[in-house]
Amino acid sequence: MSREEFKIETQLVQGSGEFTEGQPRVYPIYQTTTYDYNSPEVLAELFDLKRDGYMYSRIGNPTVTAFEEKIAQLEKGVGALALASGQAANVTAILNICGCGDHIVSLATIYGGTANLFKSTLKKYGITATFVSPEASEEEIKTAFQENTKVLFGETLGNPEMNVIDFEKLVRVGKEKGVPVIVDNTLASPYLCNPIEYGVNIVTHSATKYIDGQGAALGGVIVDGGNFNWDNGKFPDLVEPDSAYHNLSYWKDFGKAAYITRARVTLLRDFGACLNPFNAFLFLRGLETLHLRMERHSENALKVAKFLENHEKIEWVNYPKLESSYSYENAKKYLPKGGSGVILLGVKGGREGAERFIKELTWIRSVIHVGDSRTCVLHPASTTHRQLSEEDQIKAGVLPEAVRLNVGIENVEDILKDIARALENI
Ligand SMILES: *Cc1c(COP(=O)(O)O)cnc(C)c1O
Repeated sequence: MSREEFKIETQLVQGSGEFTEGQPRVYPIYQTTTYDYNSPEVLAELFDLKRDGYMYSRIGNPTVTAFEEKIAQLEKGVGALALASGQAANVTAILNICGCGDHIVSLATIYGGTANLFKSTLKKYGITATFVSPEASEEEIKTAFQENTKVLFGETLGNPEMNVIDFEKLVRVGKEKGVPVIVDNTLASPYLCNPIEYGVNIVTHSATKYIDGQGAALGGVIVDGGNFNWDNGKFPDLVEPDSAYHNLSYWKDFGKAAYITRARVTLLRDFGACLNPFNAFLFLRGLETLHLRMERHSENALKVAKFLENHEKIEWVNYPKLESSYSYENAKKYLPKGGSGVILLGVKGGREGAERFIKELTWIRSVIHVGDSRTCVLHPASTTHRQLSEEDQIKAGVLPEAVRLNVGIENVEDILKDIARALENI
């Protein structure tokens, strides 16, 4: 059987590509910045992108490549680019096709760091954003578009709202408007969902979360679906000759991989937010158990969500696999294998109730993290979404009483016990 026919669980463990006699069974860490050549001509060809090969680890390193190839395969893309963090992945994904004077349409239910990036930091560089509700109709989303709109952005599972977006609706709008749909797939992970299968053009991840799974390493990755026509007049940087590279055209010279190639050879080269090989090695280790962890996260989270839904001290619970969730139908369609491990819940008693609940938990710690194997909690309004106005917090699904619970892979009875006791004590 060819390794290309493997199901995803086998791919995660075994990887792909040919077996070679005598190769290391675990992909090693290439802890090197540089690569040896004996001829300046070969190096010149590498610099001109006329030949494949490593020259300097800011732009490429074999361990990092192994991680990129694995993610590209899992997400069914034509190529991937690893970066130093999820933030670096999202800003690179945007800046690869947006410059001063351009505009982004984004769903409002996104991670606080990305919302800050769109709302204030990118604005200082002349890139503006309009936010729309994930429940907006196609017509309403289209009215947010301007002449200069270059991107439609959303998160598969909004962090922390835990709504599931309607990929097909976004893809129809993107096609009609001639702009790519970029989706941050962090909270679903490449095991629970592959947005490119539904027509999404670019996928990003914070690898820091489920891909690592152990709270040990920061990293991010962009995957190119290779399914967007960049030659539609809106993206001259990908089509017109690039004077920084002897007038090559990414679209003509790299075809389907135009977007991801440009991101590497211009933005990674110039901004330098590269992933280090040690973290790439940790992510490769993490991926080998991703399917097992996501199954357990999803199973435990559903049990915890059902318990919370019926608890008298809980005001509301957002978890996409609860029938009461407004995302239930989208979750059925796009997340058939599970709803992931994050629950957003509203504790009765407003902000004070939420803070007391967190303080009453014992071994479930308050941690600025999500996607970790260990169960942990966070109060988004006073942490990750702190910089947003109260109105914008509410639009992003962050109410004062909201607690984000990252349900880990421990025994669910222990998780339920700590939660039940904490609720009793408030
Ligand atoms: C954490 C997170 C990010 C940012 O990732 P870092 O690795 O922390 O930089 C981006 N998007 C989502 C959905 C996240 O959860």
